[in-house]
Amino acid sequence: MLGTFFVKVNYCGTQCTNLETGKYPIRSPLFPKEWYAPGNIGCCLNDMHGQHSDKISDADLKLLTQRRIEKYGLPENKEEGLPLFGKPCRYHTREGCILKDHKGPVCVAYLCDSQIKHLKDKFGIDYDMKKAFITLEDILSGKVSEEQVSKFKSEVADFIKIIISTEKKAD
Ligand code: SF4
Ligand code: SF4
Repeated sequence: MLGTFFVKVNYCGTQCTNLETGKYPIRSPLFPKEWYAPGNIGCCLNDMHGQHSDKISDADLKLLTQRRIEKYGLPENKEEGLPLFGKPCRYHTREGCILKDHKGPVCVAYLCDSQIKHLKDKFGIDYDMKKAFITLEDILSGKVSEEQVSKFKSEVADFIKIIISTEKKAD
């Protein structure tokens, strides 16, 4: 459902991953203050799929990783690192992420600051990335009730409706 929402927003491809310079700012003393990752990498600069909060158990994470490896094999990105950049995430290719499912919760929920601002400015949507991330971890851990899952889905469905109605008004 979050995937459908992000597709409707239509931001990553048009504003980042299809452009030479993306929207993910690299904040490092090694780089100039305003330096953005190349578009084709977007925000997949390293193995984000392994990131997690301390609320999810090692066993749940291990199971997700195991299922991902069963379906997609070990991550073995063959892309060359770009000048001044290391290699991106090992599931990343020139065509983007190879994972169609079994992504880590952070990969599913993550939006960069630029896209979060776009959602607020254009659609009036307050996307709470941390809440989405934790909810996904809780779902993965079986810690949420059916009712809570339905509530989360309904919130995302409302975001989608807002986008559709805003775009209709703009036509
Ligand atoms: S979330 Fe932001 S940085 Fe990541 S791919 Fe989309 S636009 Fe690019
Ligand atoms: S798993 Fe996919 S979405 Fe997550 S960081 Fe790697 S390439 Fe990006």
